[in-house]
Amino acid sequence: MEQTNQMRDIRSLSDDDIRSAVAQLDQPMFRATQVLEWLHKKNASSFDEMTNLPKSFRTQLAERFSFAVPRQIAQQISRDRTRKYLLEFSDGVSVEAVGIPGRGKLTACISTQAGCGMRCAFCATGLAGLARSCTAREMVDQVLHIARDFNERVTSVVFMGQGEPFANFDETVRALRTLNDPRGLKIGARHLTVSTCGIIPGIRAFAKLPEQFTLAISLHSASQQTRNQLMPGVKKYTLPRLYEALQEYVEATGRRPTYEIAMIEGINDTNPEMRAICDFCEGTLCHVNLIQLSDFPDSELHPSPLFKLEELQKRLTARGVQTTIRCSRGADIDAACGQLKQRRPNAR
Ligand code: SF4
Repeated sequence: MEQTNQMRDIRSLSDDDIRSAVAQLDQPMFRATQVLEWLHKKNASSFDEMTNLPKSFRTQLAERFSFAVPRQIAQQISRDRTRKYLLEFSDGVSVEAVGIPGRGKLTACISTQAGCGMRCAFCATGLAGLARSCTAREMVDQVLHIARDFNERVTSVVFMGQGEPFANFDETVRALRTLNDPRGLKIGARHLTVSTCGIIPGIRAFAKLPEQFTLAISLHSASQQTRNQLMPGVKKYTLPRLYEALQEYVEATGRRPTYEIAMIEGINDTNPEMRAICDFCEGTLCHVNLIQLSDFPDSELHPSPLFKLEELQKRLTARGVQTTIRCSRGADIDAACGQLKQRRPNAR
C-alpha cells in the first residue's frame, strides 16, 4: 500500500513520458498511442479499463504507476436531482462537488480548494478555513466523477464550489485547458466559468488568456462598507479598483462578465444598497444574476424575500442592465451556493 502512495499518477505524465515508459517496457509504440487514448479520450480511471492492452502489459503498468482518483466518501441526492459528492484525495483531504442536471445538460460545480481562506460571512466554506489548494488534476477528477456517476457527458463546468479560484490561479487555468482540450472532454471555453470574489490581479491575468473562458464576479454589494463586512478577504480590492479592472477586462476580451448577487435580508436588499448596485452596473457590459442567499445552520444571515429580487431586477432592467433571477439548486442537501463545506452527512 505504501508503495502505491509513492507511485506517480500516470495521468500526471506528459505524452513523451508515457512514450518513454512504454519503450522501457519493451512494448511497441502503438501501445503508447492506445494508453494515451484511454487517458485523454476515454478518461479511464484504472488500468483494468484499458481492455485492448494485453493483461501482462496492464500489470506492468500497474506495478509502476497509480491512478490517484478521488474516493467518494458520501453522496446526497436532492429532490431536484442535483447530486452532491464528498470526495477524498489520496492525502485524506476532501472537497465537495455538485452535479446539476438540466434538459439535455449536465453542469458540474467543482472546488478549486479544500476549504477557503476568504472568510465570506455568508459562506459555510469560508467560515471553515482553508485546508489546501487543489491541483488541476484534482479539479478535472471532480468533473470526471460527476460524469461517471450520471453516466452522461458534462456539458458545462462552473468553478464555484469551495475555494477562490484566483488564489490558485495556475492550477485553475491548467484544469480549464484540460477540460477544454479537443482530445479530451471538449467542453467549450464559454461553458467553463470561473467565479472570483474579486481578486484583481487574477481578473487581469484571466483577461490575457487566449481562450474565451467565462468570468463571474461575486459582487454581492456595491457599497464598500457592506462589501467589506460580507467579503473581508477582498477588502483591499476596493470597488473603484474592481470596477476599473472589470472595464479593462471587457475592453480586452469583448466578453460580458456575470455579476453574482446573493440577496441577504436587511443587508443588501435595502433601497440605498439597490441604488448602489444599479449605479455600479449601469452602462457597463455585464449580466447580473440574482439569487436568494442559501442560509446554513448557525448563520445569522438569511435570504431576502423573492419580491426584493424582483424589485432589484426591475430597477436594473430600467437602467439597461441584463438581469436574471436564478434559483439555487440542491438547497435541501446543502449543495446550493455558499453551503458547501467539508462535512460528512449527519455531521453538522
Ligand atoms: S464565497 Fe467563495 S470565496 Fe467566499 S469564502 Fe466561500 S468559497 Fe471562499
